[in-house]
Parts: sequence; structure tokens; C-alpha cells
Amino acid sequence: MNVYEEISAFYESYRGEKRTIGSSVEGRRIYALHVGSPEGPQIVSQYAIHAREWVTALIALHHIERGVAKGGAWILPLMNPDGALLCEEGAASLSEERRERLLALNRDGDFRHFKANANAVDLNVNFDAHWGTGKSNVLRPSYANYIGPEPLSEPETQALRDFTLERKPAATLSWHTKGEEIYFQFHQKYLQKLRDKRLAKVLAKSTGYPLATLEGSAGGYKDWCIEKLKIPAFTIEVGPDFLPHPLGREALPDLLSRTKEALFDLSQAL
Ligand SMILES: [Zn+2]
Repeated sequence: MNVYEEISAFYESYRGEKRTIGSSVEGRRIYALHVGSPEGPQIVSQYAIHAREWVTALIALHHIERGVAKGGAWILPLMNPDGALLCEEGAASLSEERRERLLALNRDGDFRHFKANANAVDLNVNFDAHWGTGKSNVLRPSYANYIGPEPLSEPETQALRDFTLERKPAATLSWHTKGEEIYFQFHQKYLQKLRDKRLAKVLAKSTGYPLATLEGSAGGYKDWCIEKLKIPAFTIEVGPDFLPHPLGREALPDLLSRTKEALFDLSQAL
């Protein structure tokens, strides 16, 4: 079973509140599953927006089982299903329409390091928050770091934006690999940063990962949440940097030992 089939099967059997928030470029469904109560502060927690970081989708399933201390959370386990499958299964997972184009971008046909979606846009630099000013940004289709033709040009980022605007979460979490660090800053003013740092420290205590000291991102989901919604938003990089991309299923027990309480602990602190 590939990761999309695994998440789809979990979704079908899930008894709680759930919905599809949109579709990927290749028409795969993007799922949202709710845990906890509809009352009280809500968290949106999204995983695997970067293709090669698909192992985080499996962390999502554990967060659903663990639940929250208070309020509720919407879990979006697999934000970039096309990219995840491209990493896991290669070009055969693509429709003919896009296969040749992506093979031309990735000449050796090895997609294990692919970060982008099926349009070769990096979804986590496609948000409307200082778009195009990140230091690693790329201006043409690529396996990684391409900002897209305009902000929020992709169906996956549009779905995440619309869902977030509709649910009005108190905070958001974004799960990535790797580096074992927590990012929480994006041009906040003093009081907003103080508020967000308190919660970042809760996540640091829960996971044992330190807060990042250098932050140079732009156009990310976390960046957009902080700037446009003025809410605390965190990117958590799981897994040690010395491991090569992509982390596979064998990394999961170690990742879970650090991350399994993070959503629960954040909900308690809100
Ligand atoms: Zn990432």
C-alpha cells in the first residue's frame, strides 16, 4: 500500500468528523479529519506539503489517535499527495499529461528528492507572504523551491488557504523533515512574538527540539498564518539532519518518540 492509499483507507474507516478540502493537480483528494470538540480553540495541523517528507503523513495518524487536551484540531495528513507518490513510486504514478514534462525536469528519473507538486511548484513557498523573497527561491519549474507563476497558484495551496480562512484556527502546525528544529518567527511585532514564543517553548519541551535561531523563510504556510491571520504558527522539522531524504517508514518509531505528544501539549497551552 502506498502512502496515499494508506491515508485514504484511514479516512474511509474514520468515525469522527471528516471532509475532503480539495483536490491535487492530478485529482487526488486532500483529506481533513477532526479530533476533539467543535467548541473551544481549534488547531489546524498539516503534514507532508513537501513531497519527500511524506513520512510525516504517518505521524498525523498517531496525532489523530492521541487527540487533544481541550478544544479540537483538524488534521490534514497529506497536503501533497501527487508529490508523495512521485517520491514513493516514481514517474509511473503520474498521468501521461505530466509525466514527460516532469521527467524532462528530473532527467535521471529519480524522484526521491522531489519536494514540489505535479506542476513542479514548491507548495511551501507559494503562499502570499513576502512571496518570492526567500533566499532559496527558484523562478522556474523545478523539483524544489519554485515559487509558482503567482502566489497561491496551486490547487493544494488554495485548498489549504480556503480551509484555514473558513475554520479560523487559534494556531497552526506544519510538519516537515528534517533538522529537529521549531520555527515560529515571521516579522511579528514584539507582543505577537512574545505570545508565539511561549507556545513554541511548549512544543520545544514536548519534542525536545530546540527553537530555530535563524529564520529566512518566505511564502510558507506558517509565514502566511503569522502575517495574514496574526495567529501563532509553527513549522516543526522532524528527524535528524544526518539522515538522507526521504525518510522512510523505518524512521517512524524514532520520529514518534519525539512528536507524539506535540499536538496534545499545544492544545493544552492554548
Ligand atoms: Zn519541508
